[in-house]
Amino acid sequence: MRRRDFIKGAAVASVAAGAGVAAPMAQAQEKIQWKMVTTWPKSFPALGTGANYLAELITTMSGGRLEVKVYGAGELVPAFEIFDAVSRGTAQMGHGAAYYWKGKSEAAQFFSAVPFGLTAQEMNAWLYHGGGMALWEEVYAPFGLVPTAALNTGVQMGGWFNKEINTLADLKGLKMRIPGLGGEVLRRLGGTPVSLPGGEIYSSLKSGAIDATEWVGPYNDLAFGLHKAAQYYYYPGWHEPGTTLECFINKEAFEALPGDLQAIVLTASKAANLDGLSELTARNNQALHTLVYQHKVALRQFPAEVLAQLKKVSDEVVAEIVSKDPLGRKVYDSFTAFREQAAAWHDISERAYLNARRG
Ligand code: CA
Repeated sequence: MRRRDFIKGAAVASVAAGAGVAAPMAQAQEKIQWKMVTTWPKSFPALGTGANYLAELITTMSGGRLEVKVYGAGELVPAFEIFDAVSRGTAQMGHGAAYYWKGKSEAAQFFSAVPFGLTAQEMNAWLYHGGGMALWEEVYAPFGLVPTAALNTGVQMGGWFNKEINTLADLKGLKMRIPGLGGEVLRRLGGTPVSLPGGEIYSSLKSGAIDATEWVGPYNDLAFGLHKAAQYYYYPGWHEPGTTLECFINKEAFEALPGDLQAIVLTASKAANLDGLSELTARNNQALHTLVYQHKVALRQFPAEVLAQLKKVSDEVVAEIVSKDPLGRKVYDSFTAFREQAAAWHDISERAYLNARRG
């Protein structure tokens, strides 16, 4: 035993002595390959390309030491199986939206979008400086996943309909693709919410398998051709006021990375989060212009009374859903307290300024 200890000790000492010279070379040669699976069609505008951008950033920032290869929905696993695939280590990263996983945890939905919840700016503030990230980590820990915010869509559109929405009764009986908590609100109002991955929306609306859909905003909706399947385009997206799209990482794989690569993964996610929001903000209005003036889409605002009633029902539904789950309750309490103070501040900053600018 003593002899073995001595040999082991000597080996450690010799490595330590040579570390100053040998380590940089060993580090340069170390190469880790990760797979990123996504819920988006491969290279789909802003969402798929956002996933590509994140993968490229990590690969470039690490000097190729951590190379991430992206797989679109269905290439390696189907869109809605990526959570399980990364959880069990089939892939090391996933790119999607947390409300797709409400079947795993109701609390997950708070980290994508809450009806009448936080805007993009507020969402990032809650996640990065209001305790949100730590709660998200707690929600994903039982699944062996580490979450990051990887893109924000800003305020989405209300959706595509083949009839006007004048009262809440017009939502009754409606079979609509609308995920997460917004979907639960529609169910409460007598509609049938359906959760479909992006790649299946157009064909389902066109064939009449669904009556209505929401997706993201003009830039993404135009790319899907949703104007060819529905006539009325409603705003605002009350159900998704600043949706965070996520990246999640297999926890074991993440923890096996050296500290600098972990920092690169987290920092690249923050950069991608900013880049995606900037891209959509830059492109949405031009796409809306094309939809309205070139494709003759009927742009409609939800009536104020409909929005007021939707807010009332939304607040009830959200509170009720989390009441069944202690962790959901904890997330809800943090989220709603943050929303209250963010709203107070934004009343005298963003809202006051936007009103003033309009003149
Ligand atoms: Ca959406």
